[in-house]
This record gives sequence, C-alpha cells and structure tokens, in this order.
Amino acid sequence: MTKQLELFIAGEWTKGTGDGSYELRSPGTGEHLADVPRASQADIDRAVAAAYAASEEMRHWSAFERAELCLRAYELWQGRVEEIARILTMEQGKPWRAEAIDDIAESGDYLQIAAEDVKRMKGELIPTTERNRRMFTVRRPVGVWAAITPWNFPVMIPMETVGPGLATGNAIIVKPPSHTCWAMLEAARIIEEAGFPKGALSVIPGDGDVGEWLVTHPGIQGISFTGSSETGKRIVAAMGLKRSIMEMSGNGPLIVASDADVEAAAVAAVYGAYYNAGQVCTATERVIVMDHLHDEFVDATLKAAEAVRLGDPLDDETTMGPLNNEPVAAKMDRHISDAVGKGAEVLMGGGRATGYTTNLYYEFTVLDRVPEDALVSREESFGPVVPILVARDDEDAIGIANRTHLGLQAAVFTNDVSKAFWYADHIRSGTVIVNDSTDFWETFQPFGGAAGTETGWGRQRIEEFTDLQTVVFNLSLPPQGGVPA
Ligand code: NDP
Repeated sequence: MTKQLELFIAGEWTKGTGDGSYELRSPGTGEHLADVPRASQADIDRAVAAAYAASEEMRHWSAFERAELCLRAYELWQGRVEEIARILTMEQGKPWRAEAIDDIAESGDYLQIAAEDVKRMKGELIPTTERNRRMFTVRRPVGVWAAITPWNFPVMIPMETVGPGLATGNAIIVKPPSHTCWAMLEAARIIEEAGFPKGALSVIPGDGDVGEWLVTHPGIQGISFTGSSETGKRIVAAMGLKRSIMEMSGNGPLIVASDADVEAAAVAAVYGAYYNAGQVCTATERVIVMDHLHDEFVDATLKAAEAVRLGDPLDDETTMGPLNNEPVAAKMDRHISDAVGKGAEVLMGGGRATGYTTNLYYEFTVLDRVPEDALVSREESFGPVVPILVARDDEDAIGIANRTHLGLQAAVFTNDVSKAFWYADHIRSGTVIVNDSTDFWETFQPFGGAAGTETGWGRQRIEEFTDLQTVVFNLSLPPQGGVPA
C-alpha cells in the first residue's frame, strides 16, 4: 500500500500546509512507494522559529550534555539500521545487503564521532600586552543551519551535518532530495526519540522552492550543501553572507603507474565505478594507465568486472542496483555515445540493461582509449563506467589527472614510496589515496575538494559548526601583585 509520509517540522509530524503532495517511486520497480506532502513557506518559517529556540536552549548546555543526547541517538540508531536500509534501497536503488545496511550503519556513526569530538572542543588562553587583562577564546554554535542534500546518500550526507551540528548546539533543518526523502524522515524519528528539544531537527523535503526558501531565509545562519556544482553556484549566489559548507561534484582519476600491481588497480577501478552504481562524488571517473600496461590492465578489468551482479537491489546476491533517476541514465547515454563518436571503444556494456521493470538498470561499462576531450573525461558521469585513458609517462598522467576543475578524491597505484609521494605532491585533489579505490573514506577524515569545495569531517566539522568568540577581561589587579581590595 502506498505510504502517506509526513513532514517533521518543529518537533511535530505534519501534512504541511503546501499545495497537495507528490509521488515517490522506486527506481528498481517503478512502484508508487509513497506520497510526500508539499511544504509551504509558512512551514519553513515555523521550522526556523523552532530551530532558533532550540539552538538558544542548546547553546547553554555543556558539551557533555549534548554529547550524551547524541550517544543516546546513536544507541537507538543501532536497532533501526536494517529497517531504514530497506527503505533506502526501495527509494534510492542501492543493494540492501551489499551496500545499504553499511550505509545506514555508517550514517549513525556521525552521531557517535561528534559526541566524542565535541568533548575535546577547546579554546585557548592568549597572552596580552597589559598585565591586568585576560583574553581567551571559546567556540559558540553558529545557530540555525539548513542542510541541503543529494539523493546518492540521502541519509549519510544529512547526518554529516546533523551529528556535529547538534553536538555543538546548532539546530538543523534538513532539506533532503525531493524524490529520495523517506529514509531520512524515518531517521528523524530517532533524533526525536533521543530527546533533543523540539525544533532541534526538522526534515522538510519538497522540490524547487523549499531549498530556495531556506537559502534566502534571514533566520538561517548557515548552509551546509552537498550536490552538483551547478546548484552549488546558484546557492552561493543567493545566500548572501551566511556561513557555508559546500561539497560538490568530483571527477576522480585513478592512476596506474608504471610499477603498479595491475590486478589490484583493476579491482579498485571496477569497484570505484560500480559502488552505488557509480553515483558517488568520489567514484573512479577516469582511469589513467601507462601505455605499456594497457593490455594487461584491460584484461584484468574485464575479469574484475565479473564481480558486478546487476539486479534487484533487494536481492542478497545483487552488487549493483539501478540508477536512481532518468537524468542520470540519460547522462550516461550521452557520455558513452559522445566517447564512441570521438574514437573510444566499448569493451563491455554500453547501454541500458533489458529485462527489468524500469529503464534505469544500466550495464556495467568499460570504455577503452577514451580521448581527453570526451565528455566522460571532462565531466562527472555519475554512472557505472570505467573510462580508460592512456598516458605516456608519469608527467603525462599528472597532466591528464589535473585537467579538471573538480579535484575531490584521486587514487594512484604504485609500489614505489618515492613515486607515491611524488604523485601526492603533484595531484591537485582534496584527497590522494595510494593503492586503494577512490571510493575510500573514513567518517572522521578531513575531506573536501582542491577546487573551491572545502570541508572536513570529525574534528574539522566541529570547528565548522562553531564561531570562535574572544572574551577579554579587564581586571582590577593591584600594581605590584598584591591582594585585590
Ligand atoms: P543537485 O545539486 O541537483 O541537488 C542537491 C540538493 O539541492 C537537492 O536537495 C535539491 O533538491 C537541492 N536544490 C536543487 N536546486 C536548488 C536551489 N536552487 N536552491 C536550493 N536547493 C536546491 O544534486 P543531486 O541531488 O543530483 O546530487 C548529485 C550531485 O551531488 C553530484 O554532482 C555529486 O558529485 C554531488 N555529491 C557531492 C558529494 C561531496 O561530498 N562532494 C557527495 C555526494 C554527492 P531537489 O532534490 O528537490 O532537486
């Protein structure tokens, strides 16, 4: 039966006061899963007012009190992982057993890590020129944040903001992706049950206007955005002087250096292209192989691709589900035909898979000898494709890797330590991974792009959600260190 979802606004579950509702459909089956009510601007105002009141209350709590609530939420989270993962699979398409369960488990970790980090949030005592002054810094919550988030990790990415945001005393209004919002609404029930003040978290999906209302709302002090660079640019232009954390697109290269373990590199390249069906900002978007290793790498890649089992994402054997939506599938079509038109050869896959209920199942694709001017080289493809580009030598490989404006996460395969350092020094990328997939991360690692996108997780996030305040005391001390009257 179709589920009638409710919005979570100012601590209440509500139908909202917007105009009607819209449908949420499963990318795997096409099934009409749920109806999502539309929010109005008045709903946003209500959420902002409650968020302000909640953050005013929480800013006066001790870090340990806020950490305790985060840990309570983390414990409650453990009992809901498989159930929320199932919703995630139905609405997003990632395989339940192979990926969704880990995804939801890891999403809860942001609460635990934030609870640990906030207890170590420190200021400093600063020496002064005058002996009767005392000057120190403390970190204060910024206030009310909007988290505007994408459909590829529709729970994990909001939780990257919710965990550290709440732990530091901020209130958060999450705007999940309009058509992949059910799992995050369920996750909000955990935060509610943990006992945070009403309004500390609101979750308000909705297409178009909701994001824009939040970005321009005068009662919101911070925007935490993850999504495409195009939307990111629009948000930066509209938000004025709000604090912001912007995480955007990637075009991650994986370089197979001359001394690489070719088989390991091929396994990593395939994984980096099929994990979440390639719909990851850290996906392996380009594979750059030394010319003399080309044939060996192609053989190893075709062999490694046997691990990909495309199918029903609720089936335990499936390792790759459907793409999430038609625009992503259409982009894959466009990128493949453009690459072929420019001389690339399709070694495997190359189009939509047949025999499924929806048209969103995409064949795992390997493209060989892709030219640098092909769309698949220049832009983020966001699908299950390994585009192989050939380099003459290390210098050539670095040139190809760096000819992008999206430097988020890169990988290099080499067994030579000096070469690994040389690559790390020369690749313009927020993270460089040696001998593993571009799709590697830890929930506490510093993370962000080299080209304008900037953020961190763990300790860095705690700092980003707080303002540094300086407090100066003018003390009336006796001139020679006597006892004050
Ligand atoms: P979009 O940029 O299309 O959407 C992201 C969010 O912004 C959605 O909630 C969307 O709402 C909302 N939105 C759209 N237009 C506006 C607007 N004018 N004002 C405010 N909000 C708006 O990205 P996708 O959802 O397609 O996600 C895929 C992208 O996310 C990829 O480029 C990927 O690389 C990037 N990404 C980056 C990550 C990183 O850490 N750097 C991690 C994960 C993904 P609606 O759903 O209603 O359209």
